[in-house]
Amino acid sequence: MKAALLYDGGELRVEETPDPAADGWALVSARAAGVCGTELHFLEGMIPPPTVPFQLGHEAAGVVLESPPGSGLKEGDRVAVYNVVGCGRCRSCRTGRESLCTSSVGQLGFSLPGGFADVVRAPAENLVPLPDSVSFETAAVLSCSGMSVVHASRLAGIGLGDTVVVNGVGGVGLMAIQVAAAAGARVIAVADSDMKADLAYGAGAGETVVLEGGEGYDELADRVKLLTGGTGADHYVELVGTEQTMLAGIRSLGRGGKLVVIGYTGDHLNVHPIELILSEIQVVTSVAASKRDLETAIQLAADGRLEATIDTRYPLEQIGTALERLKARQVRGRNVIVW
Ligand SMILES: [Zn+2]
Ligand SMILES: [Zn+2]
Repeated sequence: MKAALLYDGGELRVEETPDPAADGWALVSARAAGVCGTELHFLEGMIPPPTVPFQLGHEAAGVVLESPPGSGLKEGDRVAVYNVVGCGRCRSCRTGRESLCTSSVGQLGFSLPGGFADVVRAPAENLVPLPDSVSFETAAVLSCSGMSVVHASRLAGIGLGDTVVVNGVGGVGLMAIQVAAAAGARVIAVADSDMKADLAYGAGAGETVVLEGGEGYDELADRVKLLTGGTGADHYVELVGTEQTMLAGIRSLGRGGKLVVIGYTGDHLNVHPIELILSEIQVVTSVAASKRDLETAIQLAADGRLEATIDTRYPLEQIGTALERLKARQVRGRNVIVW
C-alpha cells in the first residue's frame, strides 16, 4: 500500500510500504483523512515521532476490510476511526476518559501508525459506524477537531445562554463555534481577517471581532466587554495558544469565567495568580476526546448541527501541498486526503 511517512528533518515522503496485518485488530480501507495543524508540529520537530520513518495521520474514516469475529462489524461497513487506543482497564478508561489512560496502547498518528495510508489498522472497538448522511470527509474531520471541541465543551460545561469567545477560526474553531451554538451559547468569534469572520458567522457566531493579521490582542478584553454589557465572557476557547492570546483571553472573561485551552504553541503562560483569583477564573484543559465525544460529534453531524468545512480534497501524493498551504494559513477549514 501507499503511505505518507515522516523521516528525519521533517521530510514527508509518500511511498510503498507493506500492508498491515490485522493481528487481532480491524483493517479499514481509507476513504478520507484530515490534514491537521498537529502534522505541522511533527514536521517542525515540536512533537518527536516514536520511530523513523513514521506513518502520520490521526483523522481517518473509511470502509471495514476485515474485523475480528464478534466485533459486530462486517466488511463494507462505513466507519470513523477513534484514534485513542486505551488499555480498557485503568480508572480513566473505565470512566469514559480514554484520552487520560494511564497505560495507553497509543494513539494513531502520534505513537501508532496513522491514517495517511491506503489501509488503516485499529482495534475494532475504536471504529464508530457512520450514518449514511455523514460523509467520510466529515467523519475524518470529526475524528479530531469535532470530537475535541465536543470534549472541551463538555469539560467546560458550555451551556444555554453562556457567552463563549472562540479565538481562532480554523478547522477547530469552526467546529467550536458550531458546538457552542448547538449547546445554546452566544458565540463571539475572534478572526484574523474579514474572510474568516464571514466563515465564523456561517458557522453560527453571533458576533465577531476581527484582529487583522492576528494583531491587536491588547484590545480584545475591551471589545469583548463592550459586546457583553461590561460583564465579560463565560468561556474563552483558546485555539491560537500564544502567551499574548491566552492573557487576552483571561482578561476577556467575566467573574467565574473559564479559560478553555485546546490550542498551543511553544509559548509559556506567565500570569500572576491574583489575576485569576480575584475573579475566580478557572483554567480548563482538554486533550483529545473520549469515544463517546466522537459518537456525539457524529450524531450532531447526522442531525445537521455540525458540519466540517472542507477546503480542498487532495490525493495522498499531494499531501505536501496540503501541508504547505496549511502552514501558509491559506486553508479555510480543513484539507482532506481522499481515496
Ligand atoms: Zn487533528
Ligand atoms: Zn486505560
